[in-house]
Amino acid sequence: MGEGMIPLAVLLKRELSNERVEKPDLLYGQANQSKKGEDFTFLKAECQRVAGNSSTTFSVFVLFDGHNGSAAAIYSKENLLSNVLCAIPPNLSREEWIAALPRALVAGFVKTDKDFQEKACKSGTTATIVIIDGWVVTVASVGDSRCILESAEGSVYFLSTDHRLEVNEEEVERITASGGEVGRINIAGGAEVGPLRCWPGGLCLSRSIGDVDVGEFIVPIPHVKQVKLSNAGGRLVISSDGVWDALTCEKALSCCWGLPAEAAASRIVREALKAKGLHDDITCIVVDILPPEKLSPPLKKPGKGSLKSLFRRKSCESFSEPLDRGCSEPDVVEEIFEDGSAVLAERLNTEYPISNMFKLFMCAVCQLEMRPGEGISLRASSPKPSGVSPWDGPFLCLTCQAKKEAMEGKPPSGSCASRVSATIK
Ligand SMILES: [Zn+2]
Repeated sequence: MGEGMIPLAVLLKRELSNERVEKPDLLYGQANQSKKGEDFTFLKAECQRVAGNSSTTFSVFVLFDGHNGSAAAIYSKENLLSNVLCAIPPNLSREEWIAALPRALVAGFVKTDKDFQEKACKSGTTATIVIIDGWVVTVASVGDSRCILESAEGSVYFLSTDHRLEVNEEEVERITASGGEVGRINIAGGAEVGPLRCWPGGLCLSRSIGDVDVGEFIVPIPHVKQVKLSNAGGRLVISSDGVWDALTCEKALSCCWGLPAEAAASRIVREALKAKGLHDDITCIVVDILPPEKLSPPLKKPGKGSLKSLFRRKSCESFSEPLDRGCSEPDVVEEIFEDGSAVLAERLNTEYPISNMFKLFMCAVCQLEMRPGEGISLRASSPKPSGVSPWDGPFLCLTCQAKKEAMEGKPPSGSCASRVSATIK
């Protein structure tokens, strides 16, 4: 947990003590202009943590932007959510469930990618999944679709990161360290054109689901960010790069101020079309998270102070500034969790009550049941010497272990369990 982040338990306790147990109302809409037919969405406002119990409702909004065909996007649309939910153990409290989400998202993304690659279909997809439970918003993403949040207080937050080689130096370093090549297309005369791409394959993205023909260093491990809104709410805009290549975040938000969600999504798509024309699929989902029974967009009109903290990242200092006279609770978006590491072991091996999180002898990625001693401990290849521990898990099955090694740029090997590996940073 980074500096400035507030533990989830503290936030939920605070919520209870302020009698803010009421859930927000969600209003949402989407719009699309299709050029290649490779963008897909999945919107489901009424999922339940406990089947039949409406007080355990949560909502899911997902955007997939496929490339080299739509097979990966369609497959992910059909399987990603269930793969994520299957990675959450049953019988968790709400607090535990929310805390388990970041890991379950990592496992679900990797399982979806692995299963799809086994079908040996070409094509790949970005995936941006937004899970809303009460005032807590969790976003996991690979690729260059983007989810931004404008709080009712007028601040704008990036809830995803761009896995695009052109803008992400860290990812370029990771891929070259894993044995991939990153460069532009060479045309006659040696001139380089276009964006940075990864070779073989020529993909501009550094993370995706699918892309079996590109190389395992294009990983499906998502950036995950979890925030909690104040009960004044906010607006989420989830769009494919067709929008972000045409509009800045400020423009996308300001062009639809005051409009209800559905109309806002249409306006954003129309503005993108106006700015750049139809060169790519343009898809936009808008979700308004509103105080209960206040059925109008909560957003401020443009004015002084809005957009003041555009794109502030992790551990924003102003979280600790006193905001409201004598108010015990800062009326801003609070950051609970953020991790973008591409190293699977780091993402599954966390401090949260681990025995509760991973059933003892199940693969932490694909949930395959294993016999005792059959799984490979994630700690087996950990750079740290493993200390005294009553439990050596979480474990991976053989094929998920092979997937993990491939993503770290290691050559396929039969006896990998005991090898201590170099880390790729
Ligand atoms: Zn497995």
